[in-house]
Amino acid sequence: MPDIAKNLAEIKDRIAASCLRADRDPETVSLIAVSKTFPADAVRDAWEAGQSHFGENRLQEAEPKIELLPGSLHWHFIGRVQRNKVRRILPRFEVIHAIDSLGLASYANDLAGELGLFPKVFLQVNVGGEASKGGFEPAIVGAEMENLLALDRLEILGLMCIPPPGPDAESARPWFAALREQRDELERRAGVPLPFLSMGMSGDFEVAVEEGATHVRVGSAIFGKRGYQMDGGPD
Ligand SMILES: *Cc1c(COP(=O)(O)O)cnc(C)c1O
Repeated sequence: MPDIAKNLAEIKDRIAASCLRADRDPETVSLIAVSKTFPADAVRDAWEAGQSHFGENRLQEAEPKIELLPGSLHWHFIGRVQRNKVRRILPRFEVIHAIDSLGLASYANDLAGELGLFPKVFLQVNVGGEASKGGFEPAIVGAEMENLLALDRLEILGLMCIPPPGPDAESARPWFAALREQRDELERRAGVPLPFLSMGMSGDFEVAVEEGATHVRVGSAIFGKRGYQMDGGPD
């Protein structure tokens, strides 16, 4: 059994050290503990150690866990969003990290209206242009920003990415920097704030924080090795 409380404390220290290097306030970085594949008991251990934000990427797996746990936990849906799941995702998750098309955004906006909700979302950008990954093509998100901003039920927090796999954490840096620059450019062009960047996982969250991440999604470094490999693909 990994020592979840100890792992959380170490990760917070490492986030604080990255913030120091980048001259940032550690309070501006939210740690999302990615509990996919781990049982509700593991989430409870993390919660008892003070962690309150959790990430899941499969609705079927998350629903029973959410039921078992206190209502005060904050749930983030970090996986690819299938349309037929949106109706169930919206009321259960506080933030959706991987809105990847205007069609999906507008569908979620309609359902949110029906359900009386104002969901917080990130727009996922496929920074590496990988065929295997979801996300807006970098050029498309700018072209569709006006239409996305017109969806009055969605609160667009900012951009999210999962960079292409690389040999080490440093190899993710240019992708993180590119996402930040794209965010800056969108803010200038659209004249709206997009204050948040969801980027960085167990292997590279320190680099992500140095490059401006406000939400890091960390799983295995907290809960231990998973039984299978996931990179945010479809469930
Ligand atoms: C699984 C997953 C994570 C966490 O990955 P770790 O390497 O275990 O930290 C982060 N983001 C997404 C989208 C994921 O699917």
